[in-house]
Amino acid sequence: MTFDPKPTASHFIDGAYVEDTSGTPIEVVYPATGEVIATVYAATKDVLDQAFDSATRAQAEWAKVSPRERGRVLTRAAQIMRERNRALSELETFDTGKPLQETLVADATSGADALEYFGGIANGLTGEHIPLGEDWVYTVREPLGVCAGIGAWNYPTQIVCWKTAPALACGNAMVFKPSETTPLSALKVAEILLEAGAPAGLFNVVQGLGEVGAALATDPRVAKVSLTGSAPTGKKVYAAAAGEMKHVTMELGGKSPMLVFDDASLEDAVGAAILGNFYSSGQICSNGTRVFVQKGLRARFVERMAERMKDAVLGDPMDEATNFGPLVSARQMEIVEGYIAKGVEEGARLVAGGERLDRDGFWITPALFDGVTDEMTIAREEIFGPVLSVLEFETEEEAIARANDTPYGLSAGVFTSDFTRAHRVIGQLRAGSCFINSYNDAPVEAPFGGVKGSGVGRENSKAAIQHYSQLKSVYVRMGAVEAPF
Ligand code: NDP
Repeated sequence: MTFDPKPTASHFIDGAYVEDTSGTPIEVVYPATGEVIATVYAATKDVLDQAFDSATRAQAEWAKVSPRERGRVLTRAAQIMRERNRALSELETFDTGKPLQETLVADATSGADALEYFGGIANGLTGEHIPLGEDWVYTVREPLGVCAGIGAWNYPTQIVCWKTAPALACGNAMVFKPSETTPLSALKVAEILLEAGAPAGLFNVVQGLGEVGAALATDPRVAKVSLTGSAPTGKKVYAAAAGEMKHVTMELGGKSPMLVFDDASLEDAVGAAILGNFYSSGQICSNGTRVFVQKGLRARFVERMAERMKDAVLGDPMDEATNFGPLVSARQMEIVEGYIAKGVEEGARLVAGGERLDRDGFWITPALFDGVTDEMTIAREEIFGPVLSVLEFETEEEAIARANDTPYGLSAGVFTSDFTRAHRVIGQLRAGSCFINSYNDAPVEAPFGGVKGSGVGRENSKAAIQHYSQLKSVYVRMGAVEAPF
């Protein structure tokens, strides 16, 4: 290993690295080899107190900084992040196992986009003037205070930035807990923000397991909790936050449908299904894991998919020719293996892949199932791994009803060359982030988030501002006050 991914210390608080080895040790494992590459320690109560106190102090000052200056800090951070893209991508690859081919274009770059976007709109955030004849009301968009971010392990850098950029643009501070599985990159974001001019304490990183996340969700010093994680964790965090009436954003899981009609471009539909099932080894919340293909196209779709899957290159993730990496952890690999076995057991046809590789690390080849039916476990539960299920349908109405028959509602995609059908179908799909003849694009300019069991609130775009600020309305009376006595 040429690159040393070890962090300076576990936590980043009040503008400096902080270590406290009395917390529970968390080993950081390189998923491609299973090697332990670093150890961090879960935050103790003392570490958490330092983080909350410094965030509270910094937030009070930051709220007074002009929005234009706040924006400049974020924009500078975006620039530094882009300059360091290679080093950040290498670190992300060590943390997650995702191939460098991906991390170079989808992680720190996406984080930088968020910092740049919210940096750019910070000074355009205004209230409004509401005329009432002689009297009037004006509204002020105020920060919430200290926000807590809790991250999943699939896009660690992106998740930090998607939460922190709008939070800071609105005048909040952030205490962020990365997933225990991928604790490294958030620390680099902290270094960058400080270097870009963010005051010490504005952005803090604390490590830990679920119990540290739970402490963030319940601490009275925290005004808002933003979680990216699974639906069961989302329910727990939402309930915990309700105890203190905190604001929440919940970016949770999904079991999203992709509808491919007979008149779709076969190559585009297959390509999008590859992106929407196998990119990041399938560990993406919005993946279109239920691929409904119309009867006339299904056989050709499966055949072409199996053919293109032969081009998956499973190798050293640091080699830019590798385009498919390991699962993030031994646990995740076992979960995925369990689902593949269940698919076979329940009668789905495993057309390709789904094998564990006989090498160190957490490797499973991308799996293609045909003949999947709605009641099978692999069609109902979020797998969060490289398992694509093809389900056949005949009519548009049937496809829509079956696509919507899930407790989730994160994403949905439609492939057809009939534009009226595309819009008609999308209009009836119950999902927050939808695609027509494309899949899984997530530009910062567009709102991202789910409906139903997939979450609450939106990240990215101007919509995120509503979730990191609150309105104060001020009634101004110009005449005398008339009272009854
Ligand atoms: P988890 O729900 O297991 O964990 C998410 C985070 O919550 C982790 O940091 C975890 O800590 C923490 N946590 C666990 N329990 C609690 C608790 N009781 N209170 C507070 N925090 C807690 O998800 P994964 O990390 O396994 O990520 C995969 C999931 O994330 C999938 O369901 C996926 O769909 C979803 N996801 C959603 C996205 C979206 O934008 N909608 C994007 C990416 C992923 P610890 O690491 O110690 O467990």
